[in-house]
Amino acid sequence: MERHDRTTTIITSSDEKTIHEGEKFALLLQPGNVVCLYGDLGAGKTTFTKGIIKGLGVDSRVVSPTFSIVRQYTVESEDITTVYHLDLYRVENESSLETIGVQELFADQQGITIIEWPEKLYTMLPKNRIDISFSYHENDSREISIIQRKQ
Ligand code: ADP
Ligand code: MG
Repeated sequence: MERHDRTTTIITSSDEKTIHEGEKFALLLQPGNVVCLYGDLGAGKTTFTKGIIKGLGVDSRVVSPTFSIVRQYTVESEDITTVYHLDLYRVENESSLETIGVQELFADQQGITIIEWPEKLYTMLPKNRIDISFSYHENDSREISIIQRKQ
């Protein structure tokens, strides 16, 4: 781990609590941030994303972009204008990532990019990013570790 990385770990006992943690996390976001969500199917990545998007003041329903790969939401705030939510689960090769234009999304300095299954574009991930890992814990709870990567 890099010397400047900062890790925070939380445990949530329900999906509502995961949404609430996503909302709290959203308040810390800066325009241009890239957030990578790691973890197995059903670990809570999309649920947390619902919280982030809600926390940014977006009113629309968040559905998983598994088939569309990317969905975007307009944010009514001064500094952040758009949230991009990517789900790369079904992406098989880098050429489809070029079609989506992930580099353009990362370069949007008024945007927030949230990525499920970021492993699919490992070499293309910006060094300055926030990594969040989700894992199954006892009963219905989930462990969520937030790592702020700094160069
Ligand atoms: P992923 O995007 O990682 O595949 P989802 O967020 O789509 O996962 O699904 C998580 C599932 O687990 C949902 O059905 C949700 O209701 C359920 N769940 C149960 N407990 C929790 C919890 N503590 N946090 C998040 N989701 C939970
Ligand atoms: Mg998902």
